[in-house]
Amino acid sequence: MESQEIKNLIKLMAKIPGLGPRSARRSVLSLIKNPEKLMLPLAKSLIQVSENIKLCSICGNIDSDVICGICKDEKRDKNTICVVEDITDVWALERSNTYKGKYHILGGVLSAIDGINPEDLRVKELIDNIKINNIKEVILATSATLAGQTTSFYITDLLKDMNLTVSRLAQGIPIGAELDYLDDGTIGAALDSRKILNKK
Ligand SMILES: [Zn+2]
Repeated sequence: MESQEIKNLIKLMAKIPGLGPRSARRSVLSLIKNPEKLMLPLAKSLIQVSENIKLCSICGNIDSDVICGICKDEKRDKNTICVVEDITDVWALERSNTYKGKYHILGGVLSAIDGINPEDLRVKELIDNIKINNIKEVILATSATLAGQTTSFYITDLLKDMNLTVSRLAQGIPIGAELDYLDDGTIGAALDSRKILNKK
């Protein structure tokens, strides 16, 4: 049997998204086997992050300052914001290295089932952000799920009287995918958001 300390650690690790009890046990064992290289640096890093992390007052991103590095970056297009559900979406878009505007993080999506209403999301902050920062284009990048689309429609409607371009990320065929393997919804969305290459 594991000691109480180890049991507690496994229990905590198992709460991390993506780790179940089995992966948590394996991770804890690996930490115990590598105290100098893994366990102590991890413990130190956890404390550092928990003590220094702040929510950006403009976009809702996390950074070590109340205004995040992206909001501070003068080289980025300050008139365009991309609206995403969560911080992991910002990380994903940043990894793609193609988007050079700013962001706004909603902190979730509307969901009648889960009782998530507009006031539970950073919707009011989005409107303030648009007004204060003279935003000219809003790119909606919520998920292609029912809740993501509902949220996107809700925001589009909310912004309809503002002097703004509102666009939504195209949905379609993933890079490297074959048509034969895709579901009908994906193929339909790809057709709807097709790009004209040569118009006569
Ligand atoms: Zn920010």
